[in-house]
Amino acid sequence: MKKGKLIVFSAPSGSGKTTIVRYLLEQQDLNLAFSISCTSRAPRGEEVHGEDYYFLSLDDFKTHIKGEDFLEWEEVYRDNFYGTLKSEVERIWALGKNVIFDIDVAGGLRIKRKFPDETLAVFVKPPSIDELKIRLKKRSTESEDKINMRIAKASVELATAPQFDMIIKNYDLDTAKEEAYQLVKEFIK
Ligand code: 5GP
Repeated sequence: MKKGKLIVFSAPSGSGKTTIVRYLLEQQDLNLAFSISCTSRAPRGEEVHGEDYYFLSLDDFKTHIKGEDFLEWEEVYRDNFYGTLKSEVERIWALGKNVIFDIDVAGGLRIKRKFPDETLAVFVKPPSIDELKIRLKKRSTESEDKINMRIAKASVELATAPQFDMIIKNYDLDTAKEEAYQLVKEFIK
């Protein structure tokens, strides 16, 4: 199978990375397909199994860990596991497409280490922790507790930014989208 490229977007929750990833997926010339992760968390809002995530029970998730089916996995929040199946990347490469990941910083860096030449690892930086709080509250899909958990994690995640190939500052969404497009376009050439 011909290997495509791996495009990793990582950032603290609420930084706008999902919006940027969706925008890139619409750009046909980039030939991207979204890596659907597995998660043990419950679906939120309009999320669809097999589109946004493969929603698994905690037990099923752990069976995949034991079976070494994951390229990478993390317990991103307590009892909330997230991971990328090896078969997901193979599925996308078999389509002749490049893979785009929306995953946490630890998972993103792990993929970069496993496939250093094929991977472009991009970190999306929010303007500030205060702005992140405002964005997460506006999204209002999580409880106050969960929002605080995400904020606490964000400070730790921000410290990993220098380990990425590129950092995009998301101060203005349109500018960030265009910057992301140019970076990916150049990388897949
Ligand atoms: P959310 O619950 O908001 O969808 O995602 C929480 C965090 O888990 C986000 O930072 C998201 O990017 C990350 N995430 C999603 N899928 C994966 C995955 O397959 N592996 C890892 N390591 N993190 C993931």
